[in-house]
Amino acid sequence: MNWLTNFVRPKLRALVARKEAPENLWLKCPKCEQMLFMRDWEANQEVCTHCGHHMRIRPLKRLPHLFDEGKYELHPLPKVAADPLKFRDTERYDARLKKAQAKAEGSTDALVVASGLMGSRMTVIAALDFGFMGGSMGTAVGEGLVMAAEIAVARKAPLVVFSASGGARMQEGILSLMQLTRTTIAVRKVKQAGLPYIVVLTDPTTGGVSASFAMLGDIHLAEPDAIIGFAGPRVIQDTIRQELPEGFQRSEYLLEHGMVDAVVHRHKLRETLIRMITLLMDPLVVESVAAG
Ligand SMILES: [Zn+2]
Repeated sequence: MNWLTNFVRPKLRALVARKEAPENLWLKCPKCEQMLFMRDWEANQEVCTHCGHHMRIRPLKRLPHLFDEGKYELHPLPKVAADPLKFRDTERYDARLKKAQAKAEGSTDALVVASGLMGSRMTVIAALDFGFMGGSMGTAVGEGLVMAAEIAVARKAPLVVFSASGGARMQEGILSLMQLTRTTIAVRKVKQAGLPYIVVLTDPTTGGVSASFAMLGDIHLAEPDAIIGFAGPRVIQDTIRQELPEGFQRSEYLLEHGMVDAVVHRHKLRETLIRMITLLMDPLVVESVAAG
């Protein structure tokens, strides 16, 4: 037995451990299946260095690439009742929520609200986090969006939303559906104050979020090849009993059909947003630069 426990087992462990290490260094692109070196991929804002496929990036990884010198202030989400319906499916909702929070590096729900300078102008960004329970919209996300709109109005700043969601948070039932109207009213406050409201649609933007604030932008940008729609293609196909066209519900298809204003590469988002906000807020400055 000694020989087995003292010699064979450590050898086997070493073999297994060695196999685990490269997995943390490399990842496979789901589109082109190339192996990507993790560090290159992160430096490339989680866009495949081989085929340009845009993978789902979490807000805290995205924000530094948007604000001037990567500096911004985070606004914690307002506190809400954690589990208003005491909901339980295979697991208790409050337990599920705690697990997601533990993995979310400080954020408490599926929305991150930040403010800072973009092109030297105060800008508020609210970014949904698909990594947090599928970016689903419950009370906390709704409250967070209302807060983002209020900050934008108070600071006379434009509001930019990055959408990424599977829809409403079913564990919160009707309270989750109520956020559709609440967020719509929040967005209207920004518009009534004469401030730009821009939406960047990212993969995937579906369900309740696409039925409310994500489709109400003054301008809609989209990341390449993102799924954008209300119901999934299979549900639609089964309902209308017709074959769906190629590229259905993808950014480029929506651009062709006038639902999206531009499809923008992740690397170009910052400069595009700055240019559009300047066009909307200081048209004279843009004109004089063009004339001069
Ligand atoms: Zn790829």
